[in-house]
Amino acid sequence: MSKKLTKYILPEKEMPTSWYNILPDLPEPMPPMLHPQTHEPTILPPPLFPAALNDQEFSKEHTIEIPDEVLDVYKMYRPTPLIRAYRLEKALGTPAQIFYKYEGVSAAGSHKLNTAIAQAYYNKKAGIKRLATETGAGQWGSALALACQYMGLECKVYMVKVSYNQKPYRRIMMETWGAKVVASPSTDTNFGKQVLAEDPNCPGSLGMAISEACEDAFSRDDTSYSLGSVLNHVILHQSIIGLETKKQLEMADVEADIIIGCVGGGSNFGGLAVPFVKDKMKGKKIELIAVEPTACPSMTRGPLAWDLGDVAGMAPIVMMYTLGHSFIPSPIHAGGLRYHGMSPLVSHLHKLKLIDARAVNQKATFESAIQFARTEGIIPAPEPAHAIKVVIDEALKCKESGQKKVIVLGLSGHGHFDLSAYDQFLSGKLEADAYDEAKVKQSLAQLPKIDYVAPK
Ligand SMILES: *Cc1c(COP(=O)(O)O)cnc(C)c1O
Repeated sequence: MSKKLTKYILPEKEMPTSWYNILPDLPEPMPPMLHPQTHEPTILPPPLFPAALNDQEFSKEHTIEIPDEVLDVYKMYRPTPLIRAYRLEKALGTPAQIFYKYEGVSAAGSHKLNTAIAQAYYNKKAGIKRLATETGAGQWGSALALACQYMGLECKVYMVKVSYNQKPYRRIMMETWGAKVVASPSTDTNFGKQVLAEDPNCPGSLGMAISEACEDAFSRDDTSYSLGSVLNHVILHQSIIGLETKKQLEMADVEADIIIGCVGGGSNFGGLAVPFVKDKMKGKKIELIAVEPTACPSMTRGPLAWDLGDVAGMAPIVMMYTLGHSFIPSPIHAGGLRYHGMSPLVSHLHKLKLIDARAVNQKATFESAIQFARTEGIIPAPEPAHAIKVVIDEALKCKESGQKKVIVLGLSGHGHFDLSAYDQFLSGKLEADAYDEAKVKQSLAQLPKIDYVAPK
């Protein structure tokens, strides 16, 4: 038998027991969050989030211990494997070494369970009985539904209507794990009713569903709101991905030259990247590439600006790369990459030139996903397929230059519930998505006018 290793599996006892918080290590502090009405610096709205998560959002601690109850659930699927993509390397004929960190092994099928478990835990500890949230394609909703089940909480999910109608399997998963799911815009909230009165056929958007879930949580004492991406505490929880990856690369006796992940709200990329960004801040040479769709290119085409996190203006205003809160991207299959903005933390890292961003087209991502599935076997979700496209591009560059770079891919989830998208691609019906410049212009004209200037 060949002695070369393919899978780097950390023993359970070597799983990280703390998350890494990059905030105190940043060379320049992040801009504050602003209150949506007063435009003054604010915290996460207390009726929506428990104090523990708010503390983490602005924490100055370098590490935060993972509670035992959270670790116990993590251990059901963590540490996740780091796998050497020998067959993909061979098919590409590249001298590069490609590794992928696979988060699809959780029961929910993606990295989102890492923060869902932590958020459900802190809410339960604060006496909360019920969580309300939004979901696009259903990845986040299913992760939170399962986490609520693990922690004994009720869960209400506002699912963007197009996905609710087109993707029944994720809804059924959520219901199997005990969640209540409605199509958004819904008649369960005033905001939803208002939208439906204006446009009964409104397909919904993530920004609208967030507004509905926030209204739900504002209106009930027993309910908190839960966000699956974007915020600092979410990236904190996802840092477990990067911390494990670092240990696994040591096991493999290599150092990463390039780290590549897809970005929707920025949490899987952020979680994978932050421990390596820390090295970069200390002078280590490493490239970190965030990949977004050309249909929703907040970092590669949008300005860094103050914008609302949701359509109704209930969530705080943050400084981020954005296409404008009223932007509704074309319905590409990577539903998790359709958020109008980008995590303020990932935006800040980009502004500080600690990470790079690239946009790729949906059609090219499916070609790459198929090549990955036919070599490595795993059928990737359409979201990380964006990162795979850039991994292949970089590996082919190595082939030209003869460089033996070490490339690490964040494989955030599997695509078992996205097979109809694969079907469309395989039968030649999948459309190349287009960037709608006029729509973005229109939406950017509606950015809030903010006079806030940081005190010197
Ligand atoms: C939701 C999702 C994403 C995008 O969200 P991020 O917060 O940017 O990570 C990427 N991949 C998968 C599998 C997802 O479910």
